[in-house]
This record gives sequence, C-alpha cells and structure tokens, in this order.
Amino acid sequence: MIKYVIRGDSMFKNTIDNKRYYTLNCFFRKKFGSKVFKVPLDIGSSCPNFSSGGCIYCSGRSVANISDGSLDIVSQFNKAKDVLEKKWPNSLYIAYFQSGTNTYGDITKFKSYVDELLGINKVVGISIATRPDALSDEWLSYLSELNKQTFLMVELGLQSSNDETLKYINRGHDVKNFTEAVEKLKNRGIFTVAHIINGLPNETKEDMLNTVKYLNNLGIDGVKIHMLYIPKNTKLASIYENNKFHVLSREEYVDIVCNELQLLNENIVIERITGDPIVSELIEPKWLVKKFCVLNEIDKEMVKRDIYQGDLVSF
Ligand code: SF4
Repeated sequence: MIKYVIRGDSMFKNTIDNKRYYTLNCFFRKKFGSKVFKVPLDIGSSCPNFSSGGCIYCSGRSVANISDGSLDIVSQFNKAKDVLEKKWPNSLYIAYFQSGTNTYGDITKFKSYVDELLGINKVVGISIATRPDALSDEWLSYLSELNKQTFLMVELGLQSSNDETLKYINRGHDVKNFTEAVEKLKNRGIFTVAHIINGLPNETKEDMLNTVKYLNNLGIDGVKIHMLYIPKNTKLASIYENNKFHVLSREEYVDIVCNELQLLNENIVIERITGDPIVSELIEPKWLVKKFCVLNEIDKEMVKRDIYQGDLVSF
C-alpha cells in the first residue's frame, strides 16, 4: 500500500514507508501491485573499455552480485529466486543482466537468454546494464522490440557530467556520448537509468550537483547514486596510495545526497543511494560497509531539514 508523506500543505506522492524520495520499491508497487526483486545475473560479459585499461576504479567484478557466474542463466536465476521466495512468496521478478557491458557481446546468445528468462513464472521484466558507447543500431532495434514484449530497463554508467572527470577516471566516453545514448533509448520509449558516483577525485560538491541537474534536464527515468570506494588492486588504489586524495566522510556524503535528491524531479525513481562494496576488497571508505546506517542517516537528515526529492527543481 502506498503511504503519503505530508509536505507542507501538500502530499509527497511517490513514497512508501515514509521515505522522502521515490524508491524503486515504491515504483514497482505502483506498476506491478506487488513487491518486485531485480535478480542480478552474470553472463560473463566483457567491456569495450578493458582494451583501454578500464575505469580507474574497476576491479573487473560486480558488487552486490548474489548470482553465481559458473551456473547457466536459468540456474543462476532460480537459485536467487528460491532464496527470495522463502521470505517473500508473493513477489515478482525482473531478470537483471548486471555484470559487465551486456550489449557488447553476442546478440543471438543474449536473445536466447532473455527468451528463457521470460518463460519463467513470475518474471515481469528485464533490466540490462551497459555503457553509452555500446548501443549499436542492431542492439537498439532489439531493445526496442524487447520493450514492446516486456517491461525493460536499461542502465547506463555516466558517473559524472564533467568531461574532465570522465577523462581522469578513464571512462572511455564523454558526456555527449551519454546524452546521445539516452536520447536513442528514450526515443524508443525505454525506461533509462543512469549511474553516478559521488566523491570522484578532484570533484567538488558543485560538480556532483551539476551531474544531477544534467540528468534531471535530460529526462532520465531512474538514478543510481553511488559513493566512490577504493577497491584493492585497482589503478585508483595506486593513485590513493601515492597521493591520498580526499575521500568523502559519511556526513559529507549524506549532505550531498540530500541536495541531489532535492534537485531530481519527484518522478525520477531513485534506485540506489549508497554502494555495496566487496568488504574484503575495500580500502576506503570504511563507513560504506554499514549500508543501513547510511540509508538511515539520509532519511534522518531529510526529516531534520524538512526536505523532499524534487523540491529544488526549477521548471
Ligand atoms: S565500464 Fe564497468 S566493466 Fe567497464 S571498465 Fe568501467 S567499471 Fe569496468
């Protein structure tokens, strides 16, 4: 059931569990009338950016991935579903191609995976993580068809709207590439989600807020906000060891996220507002391990400031 939070003399309509931002859970409940889980899957996708050295923070592994990439796709899905179903027997599922750049490989094989997954009971959609520079015409035309067949989400990494930063982190694409990719997806009516990272080296709070303003103007459907973390054995780890750049404190991060949420239209779905580092690989920040603490601090701060998602959006 959707709850409403009183906002001044009006209601904040996109809420559940008294959150002051539009959670993915709220979006799914409205759309499907039920709890929906995205089940992360690993089809061993590579990445076009590997040949240029990869993003400086890339450890080549996905975080928060409960799937087992050694299993076939349906077994991966069912293994996760069996666990979730014990606690939430009435839930629905979205198969989430999470690891790597999923529109970079063999499209025929990918189509067969999707067909298998859509044949499973209670699968109501597909989510695909990829890069803005990996959307060929062939893939776009397939995604367009798939979008007619089922509920489709496409997730694109942006990380920052500052080209200097993108160059520094070796993203391998610029902001223009990202804008064009989003336009191509949106023109086909595809639900498009952007990933951004707070705390990238050399970025100011203003840079981070500019990134969400850019996304807001672009008409993005969903946002995943991450905190930069430094994984062991990455270029970022070497940079940090040689020259300890400023890593955001939890208080700074909470402050920035609160401001970012205010700058995002209230209809943009907030899929994530913190990260899930692999603890054994984490150098900094250690506070990120306590995910629920971070989420609680953001909720508390929004109440303290009496702010809501979208209340600083200028039309
Ligand atoms: S886009 Fe993802 S997989 Fe590719 S190099 Fe960057 S972090 Fe690694």
